[in-house]
Amino acid sequence: MYTSVRLKKWVLAAAAALALGCAAGGLLKGAGAVEAAAPAREGTPLPVIMYHGLLRDEALQGDYVISPEILESDMAYLQEQGYTALHIQDLLDYVDGKAGLPEKPVLLTFDDGYYNNYLYAYPLAQKYQMKLVVAPIGYYTDQYSETKDEHAPYSHITWDQMAEMQESGLVEFQNHTYNLHGSGGQRLGTKKLAGESSEAYAALLSEDLMRMQKKMEDHLGRAPSCFVYPFGAVSETEPEIIRSLGFRCTLTCESRINYITRDAECLYGLGRWRRPPGTPSGEFFQEILGGA
Ligand SMILES: [Zn+2]
Repeated sequence: MYTSVRLKKWVLAAAAALALGCAAGGLLKGAGAVEAAAPAREGTPLPVIMYHGLLRDEALQGDYVISPEILESDMAYLQEQGYTALHIQDLLDYVDGKAGLPEKPVLLTFDDGYYNNYLYAYPLAQKYQMKLVVAPIGYYTDQYSETKDEHAPYSHITWDQMAEMQESGLVEFQNHTYNLHGSGGQRLGTKKLAGESSEAYAALLSEDLMRMQKKMEDHLGRAPSCFVYPFGAVSETEPEIIRSLGFRCTLTCESRINYITRDAECLYGLGRWRRPPGTPSGEFFQEILGGA
């Protein structure tokens, strides 16, 4: 009883201090006082870049397709600036206390698993010895593994191509659903439908995501540790379900820098920056990294 009262008092005092802190900050700003530099964020800044397709044909480039030359220029720029591209596993090793972090880490992520990633990004990863994180959609990988149809603009990577990429040690694969990547129908990605029961929703997510985990385990010998939200669409109850399925990391589409600490919690809800076409590498990265 005594403890609980003391605890309550402490919580109230802490809340009051916090409220006061905000108010004081507001007053200072209002009075035109010189603002103290913001306290440094704890942890190592980690920018995560989000790519999708890569095509040489300019007519096919857009928000989700850039030229392989831009990717190459990004890699050259990052290397020149002393950045080291990591895998999610490197982040897990860090939070688990098994390894350190390089001074300037970065993640280069590719959503949807297009065949053109194998065609263009994989050779560049080899040339620059930079690690990539690719999140394929299982349903399409199954399809193209059957047809072996290799068309840069629309084909997806096959299980064999993924195995080859993984074997190099340069490419890591993560979960982007087996087949919950729709945007034209009722459901956007893995979002909960209005009126859908919590049980039905949890069962649907579990069935699809674990199906993909199993496929990856069967074909690549390892199950992903990270879930990449399709379209960055996240329902309120979704993060808890994803955690309960054993994922230790999630990637969103919110444009912000992450701060990596030894606390494993920091790997949930990582922000990412979409790489637009056309912007020179220096300009793109300065804008992002300036805020780190
Ligand atoms: Zn996607």
